[in-house]
Amino acid sequence: MTASTFADWQQRARELTIESRAFIEGQYVPAAAGATFECISPIDGRVLAQVASCDQADADRAVAVARRTFEAGAWSRMAPAKRKAVMIRFAELIEAHRDELALLETLDMGKPISDARGVDIPGSARAIRWSGEAIDKVYDEVAATPHDQLGLVTREPVGVVAAIVPWNFPLMMACWKLGPALATGNSVVLKPSEKSPLTAIRVAQLAIDAGIPAGVLNVLPGYGHTVGKALALHMDVDTLVFTGSTRVAKQLMIYAGESNMKRVWLEAGGKSPNIVCADAPDLEAAAKSAAGAIAFNQGEVCTAGSRLLVERSIKDRFLPMVVEALKGWKPGNPLDPATNVGALVDTQQLETVLGYIDAGRSEGAQVLAGGGRTLQETGGYYVEPTIFDGVSNAMKIAREEIFGPVLSVIAFDDLDEAIRIANDTPYGLAAAVWTANLSKAHRAARALRAGSVWVNQYDGGDMTAPFGGFKQSGNGRDKSLHAFDKYTELKATWIQL
Ligand code: NAD
Repeated sequence: MTASTFADWQQRARELTIESRAFIEGQYVPAAAGATFECISPIDGRVLAQVASCDQADADRAVAVARRTFEAGAWSRMAPAKRKAVMIRFAELIEAHRDELALLETLDMGKPISDARGVDIPGSARAIRWSGEAIDKVYDEVAATPHDQLGLVTREPVGVVAAIVPWNFPLMMACWKLGPALATGNSVVLKPSEKSPLTAIRVAQLAIDAGIPAGVLNVLPGYGHTVGKALALHMDVDTLVFTGSTRVAKQLMIYAGESNMKRVWLEAGGKSPNIVCADAPDLEAAAKSAAGAIAFNQGEVCTAGSRLLVERSIKDRFLPMVVEALKGWKPGNPLDPATNVGALVDTQQLETVLGYIDAGRSEGAQVLAGGGRTLQETGGYYVEPTIFDGVSNAMKIAREEIFGPVLSVIAFDDLDEAIRIANDTPYGLAAAVWTANLSKAHRAARALRAGSVWVNQYDGGDMTAPFGGFKQSGNGRDKSLHAFDKYTELKATWIQL
């Protein structure tokens, strides 16, 4: 039965059985050392589970299993059309367990159940299905060789992939990696964030149920500095794919250099500009979108539109519209289907976000909305969506990724200035521009140094287009056929005829 009311979801939460062990070679197992860590729900601060805390020994075991499975070939050499069928079954099983997975996600990281059920879980299944469906439709190449030669340009799986993922869209970020990694025939060791390990642990069994051979997908929950570091330094991991902060991304490049020069593909942070020009086609729509761009998922979104650049001539008219639109984003219990802003992931994130709000105040920016913690009596970690006006791009709240619902408003006088401010950041993940002028839109799209640019919308996209960052937002791309590049080696074979 599909749960639909707040009371239904609370009831299901009470009845939920939570698997909290690691998954190696098709079996749930405790960490080798028997260690665990507490998994706490940000909804109310209660302990959900004691989760296996993996370390070096578990990494060694899982990588050895992944290597053996890869070499054995049951998956890596399976005909693409067969692998496709298994991937599609895997996607279908994720969909069939939508309520259970959504509930785990919500309890674990505090996002609204409506989003977990409506965005995260379907998005995860789509990522698996899309990559699976594509895999028997991509062809290799024949080179333009002289007449007496045959040159084949082929792609082959890299071998063992370690995937380290964050907590903001726990299963979806994992599936953006798992889709192309598995479809191309690799074996994978997945390390979910210690702040949100539960859905990754659960789907490992669904992969087996779908027909992915044991040992092809292994899941190691645990801390970054223990099992994450062990994977990143491992001499037998061929490729490391990562989504998370720029700080950790840089560290992973060092680990790769210090070990086996494994390929490292990084999807990191952002501080994305959302530029609203005076000639925007619909200011009301732009205001609603700006509110959603900072409040959705509690602002814990890599592409959050956290810098709102507004043309000075419309600022006094436009900002009240944004304030009004933000009133529609109200923190509440994430298990209530009416809630659209949930809890921040943990006390550390709560303190970080409140610290940035203090910094904004002390640097002289003015609070137009929100500005503090709320619903403290629940024991959970809730922050009011907050708008700062009078921000300069030099302020801390404009330069650093806050990863919470805190919007910085910066005024500009013309498009050139807007683009200059927009690009004045170490990041380059996404940017948006609102204008009815076609050539201005194209000019901005070309000039903005970001992996995704949106015109007259914010956060559009699906599996068909690549997603990733310029500059310190990362390298490589998730989604689309371009993602396959990260999981395959390119080989040239020359045959004398
Ligand atoms: P984080 O960098 O703190 O952690 C990410 C993962 O890395 C976790 O699994 C963590 O355990 C692991 N880790 C930490 N230290 C490690 C180490 N020394 N060695 C190996 N692994 C280590 O990031 P987070 O707080 O989980 O996630 C938030 C960040 O993710 C934000 O910066 C956000 O912008 C970014 N993000 C980016 C994208 C994207 O596609 N570009 C998408 C979502 C989130």
